[in-house]
Amino acid sequence: MKKSLLTLFSLLILSTSASYAETVVFNPNSKIYHKPSCHYAQICKVCIKIEKQDAIKRGGRPCKKCGG
Ligand SMILES: [Zn+2]
Repeated sequence: MKKSLLTLFSLLILSTSASYAETVVFNPNSKIYHKPSCHYAQICKVCIKIEKQDAIKRGGRPCKKCGG
């Protein structure tokens, strides 16, 4: 009983983290997306905050510095 509860709990954690939408800072001109904490994201004037999936859909590439 205890073991099945633990399995259920870990499944719940896994599904929660999988559905979590990650926000990135996307540059529509260069099509490069950054982590919000990235230095380039902070100095970028044309960048917009969108979901990572949307950035990829728009042809976005991860930043080489922060990895997106
Ligand atoms: Zn970056």
